[in-house]
Amino acid sequence: MPDTTKKVRVRFAPSPTGGLHLGGVRTVLFNYLFARKHGGDFILRIEDTDQSRYVEGAEQYILDCLAWCGLNPDEGPQNGGPYAPYRQSERKENYRKYAEQLVSNGYAYYAFDTPAELDEQRQKFPNFRYGHENRDVLRNSLNLSQEETQALLDQGVPHVIRIKVPVDDTVHFYDMIRGDVSFDTNLVDDKVLLKADGMPTYHLAVVVDDYLMKISHAFRGEEWLPSAPVHILLWEYLGWKADMPHWVHLPLILKPDGNGKLSKRDGDRLGFPVYAMNWKDPKSGEITRGFREMGYLPEAFINMLALLGWNDGTEQEIFSMEELIEKFSIERVSKAGAKFDFEKAKWFNHEYIKNSQVAGIKYQVLEILKAKDIQIEDNEYFDKVLETVKERMTFLQDFWDQASFFFEQPAFYDLNAVKPKWSDAKTEYFNELIKTWEGTKAWDAVNLETVFKALAEEKGIKPGELMLPFRVMLVGGKFGPGVFDIAVLLGKEQTIQRIQKAIIAFTVE
Ligand code: GLU
Repeated sequence: MPDTTKKVRVRFAPSPTGGLHLGGVRTVLFNYLFARKHGGDFILRIEDTDQSRYVEGAEQYILDCLAWCGLNPDEGPQNGGPYAPYRQSERKENYRKYAEQLVSNGYAYYAFDTPAELDEQRQKFPNFRYGHENRDVLRNSLNLSQEETQALLDQGVPHVIRIKVPVDDTVHFYDMIRGDVSFDTNLVDDKVLLKADGMPTYHLAVVVDDYLMKISHAFRGEEWLPSAPVHILLWEYLGWKADMPHWVHLPLILKPDGNGKLSKRDGDRLGFPVYAMNWKDPKSGEITRGFREMGYLPEAFINMLALLGWNDGTEQEIFSMEELIEKFSIERVSKAGAKFDFEKAKWFNHEYIKNSQVAGIKYQVLEILKAKDIQIEDNEYFDKVLETVKERMTFLQDFWDQASFFFEQPAFYDLNAVKPKWSDAKTEYFNELIKTWEGTKAWDAVNLETVFKALAEEKGIKPGELMLPFRVMLVGGKFGPGVFDIAVLLGKEQTIQRIQKAIIAFTVE
């Protein structure tokens, strides 16, 4: 149960190493919903202490993704806050003292083994893990005398600080999704806490900063569960156990076709994005497609993510952000992994586009058209067309495929659909229809349809046999919204022109 006496403070703590996986965005979302629901703070902390993995531009990209999703942090590297700085590389000075404190209290030790020595161990023992089985024979302060250790430190010999994991013990903790979790300490290695370059590893930094930033609940993906025993031990060894956050390890997002965590490679393989936004690798220049660029509305993306591992106990699937904040609860997050379903993801986007106000999506559509070098004026006609076709769009990019015929006459006709059944009687019918429509004042769908059908009856032709040719006349093929709605939008003159032009095309041998 959330501790209501402690202010809710949650954090998303990404390492800036590349594109933002949708699982990462879901972690942000659950953090955000929980913070909003409980009147708490949502913090963004950049965990950039592993300089070998640091990627230029990745931090800004994460910030841009959060902004696109509307999940802006209350505190973070961009907007600051009472616990600044929020980039771990800028907090370097904080960590050493805690690592030293652990050494003084016997919970950690200096290790002077060189990379070459460790490699040698790995060669000798394929499953080598630095820990209780071998730490007594390796080059560290557990085996060296105090004087020897001090001498090496004074000489500036490169060293790391490692946690001393207890032998034959069990680490227990409570996870708000998984319940009681326990780990056998004999299976946990002595993780490095402080590296030779003086930077903390993730394990030390995450604990120190969660403590200093007064984090109340730590939401993170299930893949971090194996690291939890090291963290729990650190909370205890640093004397902070009473302030330890509640743990919330979120279920994995699984591949659609099989088991295992959904990866970027699965997206490439199956043809869907896995990142929130396009990510350009600064080294290779390779661009990985994102949901945004594929034409997703952020609201649809968020709604889809909310249901990957959570539901409100009903059949409801469409939730506004306000509803998600109101209804979200950790109790309803499932333990089991959630299979990613791209078809379902498309369905959400379609629902959101269909139900959007034209004003809410038109500028994005116009941008997409501009990028394709299609000049469309932003006027009332465009608004009406978008209103008519939006329910047929799965992506914003679908607009032109669904609507180009509203702006230009069909370049060609699906003659196979029409010609085999074309007849002089039909030519005559349409010529007469033009005459009747020319004189009509009420250019609305109901009236057009009434006239269309009445004339068909008079001529003894089934209206069904005339509808398809009429559609092909206006749009070129067998697609599009209601044909009389199209005619209304095109207007009298354009409709009549298209009928005339098409009759010729349908009649020539
Ligand atoms: N820096 C870790 C990551 O990249 C954070 C994990 C955690 O939240 O503890 O996901």
